[in-house]
Amino acid sequence: MITLEHLTKRYAGFTAVDDVSFTARPGRVTGFLGPNGAGKSTTMRVMVGLTPPTSGTATVDGRRYAELPNPGREVGVLLDASAQHAGRTGREILRVAAATMGLPRARVETMIERVGLTDREAERRVRHYSLGMRQRLGIATALIGDPRVLVLDEPANGLDPAGIRWMRDLLRGYADQGGTVLLSSHLLHEIEVVADDLVVIGNGRIVAQGTKAELLAGAGSVVRASDTARLVAALADAGVEHTVAPDGAVLASAEAARLGAVAFAAGVVLTELRSADSAGLEEMFLELTATSRREGVAA
Ligand code: ADP
Repeated sequence: MITLEHLTKRYAGFTAVDDVSFTARPGRVTGFLGPNGAGKSTTMRVMVGLTPPTSGTATVDGRRYAELPNPGREVGVLLDASAQHAGRTGREILRVAAATMGLPRARVETMIERVGLTDREAERRVRHYSLGMRQRLGIATALIGDPRVLVLDEPANGLDPAGIRWMRDLLRGYADQGGTVLLSSHLLHEIEVVADDLVVIGNGRIVAQGTKAELLAGAGSVVRASDTARLVAALADAGVEHTVAPDGAVLASAEAARLGAVAFAAGVVLTELRSADSAGLEEMFLELTATSRREGVAA
């Protein structure tokens, strides 16, 4: 289990991570979601001991990363796939990792196969790798020590759709076997399929967290009427918060049953009524983090 308690990181008066607390639990994939600059990487760097926190703690099974005797055997980390030694071949990088962790050499070949690098690709220098190949190699390095916890920062970057699918299946399988997975993304749709739990960060602060099911339930409903203006008026009268999409779909922050009742009472004919699912989650994500985009915001 990964536990963050009141984690804060300040850089010269600028607060990159602001009192962040959450847990990532075994057997579950936790999605760490937020726009660029929200503080995801900084949080993850603190977790794995690369950046000292200003205050607060990040622990894995109760211990700080720096206290783990053989960290690679306990926590698999992929923070920046481009940071791998460009002059080494993929196979060499995995051999160094295996040697550092005291693993048999055969494990290297197993991992090359597991992440779908060909024998020829494994012999190529990393400077000639595509970003997608670097991500695969980074995942191989993270998994080589057979850790129980995975911390991955934007691992889908640079992967093609088949690669994203492959990684989802890999992470799902890993969590289903009892592993703890924390993965970050700035794109909801990249992680909402695989994540069981979501932690949403904006401007260094947690703005929402919970199971995906809970957050979806809070995402409201999509409703359409033959007369959108009358529907909107009825919702306003009933005090239901709502936004209208350009195509006339209304996203309302209430359950379908309540909306049906409101429309019925106002004599409005509905042409569609359903839970908002991922469209609503996206809307909620954008709204929650809208005020937290860094552009034009004084630090
Ligand atoms: P994310 O990973 O969500 O895109 P980051 O954690 O990389 O966000 O960055 C959060 C904020 O902290 C950004 O505004 C970034 O510019 C700032 N930041 C990150 N590292 C440093 C640093 N070493 N010095 C000063 N500011 C930093």
